Amino acid sequence: MPSISTRKGSCLCGAVKFEVSVPEPKFAICHCAMCRKWSSGPFMAVHCEGDIRFTEEKGMTWCRSSDWAERGFCGQCGTNLFWRLADPKTPMLEISLEALDDIDDMTLECHVYIDSKPDRYDFKDDRPRITEAELLKELGMTPPD
Ligand SMILES: [Zn+2]
Ligand SMILES: [Zn+2]
Repeated sequence: MPSISTRKGSCLCGAVKFEVSVPEPKFAICHCAMCRKWSSGPFMAVHCEGDIRFTEEKGMTWCRSSDWAERGFCGQCGTNLFWRLADPKTPMLEISLEALDDIDDMTLECHVYIDSKPDRYDFKDDRPRITEAELLKELGMTPPD
């Protein structure tokens, strides 16, 4: 089993600084319409365990982006930082890959919501491409109406 690593990260202006626990040095790329709107591109996300430990949070802002999830960003500089499930009974936290300081060891695990990816861009890697239905099934969730 890979060991959990502690990673530091921050927003562009420094009004949000934090540490998170990352179980595996891997990231996924989400092509859903909400992530693309939020990120102006696909969202590269790293799965974290436990809570965010803030060392600076004066810029921290949360936005409820759907019935089941919320997105965290810096209210001062606008850096996208976190995606998490809103229900504390089902904790799930993803962090923007590029918000972390040391990511040279991170490798691409998969693409998700590939059925939402527009034709205007493509990635040339050969990693798995997972649809919304496949992802939700894997997570044991039902899609929101
Ligand atoms: Zn900031
Ligand atoms: Zn997404």
